[in-house]
Formats: sequence, C-alpha cells, structure tokens
Amino acid sequence: MRHARRLDGIPPTIFAEMSALAVRTGSVNLGQGFPDSDGPPEVIEEAIAALRGGRNQYAPGIGVPELRTAIARHQQRHYGIELDPDRQVAVTTGCTEGIAAALLGLVDPGDEVVVLEPYYDSYLAMIGFAGGVRRPVPLRAPSFRLDPDELRAAVGPRTSLILLNSPHNPTGSVLTREELEAVAAVAQENDLIVVTDEVYEHLTFDGRRHVPIATLPGMFERTLTLSSAGKSYSFTGWKVGWATGPADLVAALVGAKQWLTFTSGAPLQPAVAAALDECPDFPAKLARSLEERRDRLAAGLTAAGLSPYTPEGTYFTTTDITDLGWANGREFCLALPERAGVVAVPMAAFYDHPDGDGRHLVRWAFCKDEPVIDEAVRRLAAADLSA
Ligand SMILES: *Cc1c(COP(=O)(O)O)cnc(C)c1O
Repeated sequence: MRHARRLDGIPPTIFAEMSALAVRTGSVNLGQGFPDSDGPPEVIEEAIAALRGGRNQYAPGIGVPELRTAIARHQQRHYGIELDPDRQVAVTTGCTEGIAAALLGLVDPGDEVVVLEPYYDSYLAMIGFAGGVRRPVPLRAPSFRLDPDELRAAVGPRTSLILLNSPHNPTGSVLTREELEAVAAVAQENDLIVVTDEVYEHLTFDGRRHVPIATLPGMFERTLTLSSAGKSYSFTGWKVGWATGPADLVAALVGAKQWLTFTSGAPLQPAVAAALDECPDFPAKLARSLEERRDRLAAGLTAAGLSPYTPEGTYFTTTDITDLGWANGREFCLALPERAGVVAVPMAAFYDHPDGDGRHLVRWAFCKDEPVIDEAVRRLAAADLSA
C-alpha cells in the first residue's frame, strides 16, 4: 500500500468498519449517527424545485445569498448575534468541510490545538493535515465535565487555537455557561482563536439550552462558529454547513475552502434557506422526540445490565462495559453483533490513547426510529452480554 506519511497514525474512520460489520451480520446499527427518518418534506420539495428551476451550476464560493441571509437571521433569532451575511457568513460542504477549512486556514505547522477528548474523529485527521499538534483536555466519565485547571494546563506558548464542540459528540454533554466562561477566560488570557463545532446546537434535552461561546463578552471577535443542516434538520446526507464569525476568521476559512471544494451543492442551498426560515420549529420538535428515544434506549440498556450516562444533548449515550465484566470496549463491540445482533461503537476510537480513559466506554446512537430501538432492546435483553 502506497500512501503519504500524513495518513500515518490516522486510523480509518471507525464508522465504516462498524457499519460494514452491521451489514455483514444483519445487526441493528446503533453505531453510526444518522437518523432513519428524513427532515421536513416541504424542504425536499424546495430542493426538487431548485433542481428543476435551473439552480444547477456553481454557486458563489461563500454560498448563495438567500442561504447566507437565512443563516444570519437564524443566529439573530436564536442567539441575538448580528451578522453581515456578505462578510461574516460562509456556506461549507457540511460541518466536516468547515472543520477542515478552519484548521487549514488558521493553524500553522507546529501550532498546538487544544481539543476536548474524546473528540469527533475528523478533528484528529484535520489537525494532523494542517501540521498542528493535538493537546487533548479530558472530559472524564461518568459526568464528562470540563475541568478548567486541566484546560489551563493544556495551553502553552505554541497554542494558537481551541477547538470546541458543544453539545459534545461522543459524550452527549453540553458545556455549561460556567465551563464556557472558563474557556473564554483562557482564550482571552492567551490570545487564542476558538473554533466551535455546534452541529447539535438545537438537540438539547431536559429544558437545557445551548449557549454559543460567541455570545460571551469579548468572544465574538475571536470565535469561528460552525454548524450544519445535517443534524438540525435530519439531512445528514446533504452536507450543507456554515461558518459564522468576524470577517477575518471567516475569510481565513474561505481562503482554504476555495481550494477544497470551491463551492457547495447549489440546489440544496436554497432548500436549506427555506428550512431555516420556514421550518424554524423543526429542530426543537426533533429534540423532544430524540429525548423520548434517549429514554427508551436507556431503559433497554439498563435492563441489559448496563448503566447508561444520561446525555444532555446529541444523538448518543455512553455506557461503561465494566458493568458486565468487560475491560475493552473494542472487544465488546466486536463480540456484540454475534452475541446480540446489535452494533455499537467503542469510544476508544475518539481518544489519543486507545488504552487510556475511554477503553471501557461504548457509544450507542438513539437517533433511530422507535421500532429500530425497540428491536435492538429486545435483542440485548435476549442475549448473554457478560464477558
Ligand atoms: C455529524 C458531525 C459533524 C459533521 O457534520 P456534516 O454537516 O455532516 O459534515 C461534525 N461535527 C460533529 C461533532 C458531528 O457529530
């Protein structure tokens, strides 16, 4: 196998392996986080109308004006953030490209990037591609809170950027205002940029509300906020995301984005604009439905002898498999399809050290339809899951 050295140390995404295992074994796939049901049908009609209506050539690199203004209105309506849609908003090919373009546009080789651990797996790859060095700050089970002292200890003279994610995948924790204030203080004391992945901004539970760190005093100027229609509107396959923030940070992201994809799916952009403007209640309803499904899966996991962490947001819950006598989440997840016909994901995939803090943790997705969750629960109940 020939490949460039930049791919060394970047394992293939765990989701490909686990989803293939699910197909091969006929298992219920609670591994990869995508919903079974699509977003609003009227938004799909908008996409069809755009396809038929001649919106099929290159869109402007920063995105079509109607989507950029809809994103600006969204940030205003939810968070009171005022944006110039021509200079402070850019459309990306999903949040994934937003992460890539932000890191390539803002991180110099040798710069240190502070990142919450466990982390979404593309962070590892993209910090590496940018030539940056990861400085993980642990969110420790079972509460997954951020310890401000550990954050401070991770920052050094070569740190240029904090890469934040809240609501947080894979732990399901939502950073509190106090935790965000600690991040803001560290960023300001050390003159750091914050890039914040807020794709689960609307998917919070039990009355909790997501606070964008860009709304904290003094933070707008140094924060690049990333989000996407994928999670908020159940269109994960559309890959329409966006970046918002001060013009210089958005320009840095666009500086890299123009050489990655140049521009993103033209006919999907007016449809996402319609979703933001005309279906503003969809994400909150989705969150309430996800909260019910969270509880359904949690009851099933509890009945199977596991004690799930109660996530505050996102698609995911986590369990500690030492409850069942296992030590290694990867071994558990490889045995699970045969034992129970269910696929979950070992959390070790989201840590720097597979034998470290996350070794004994497993992530389960509850963004699936209720009958799918019920079937998984039935299978888990009927199986012998002990080590
Ligand atoms: C799903 C996800 C993404 C990717 O978003 P896309 O819009 O599908 O590219 C980014 N970050 C986190 C934390 C995610 O869970």
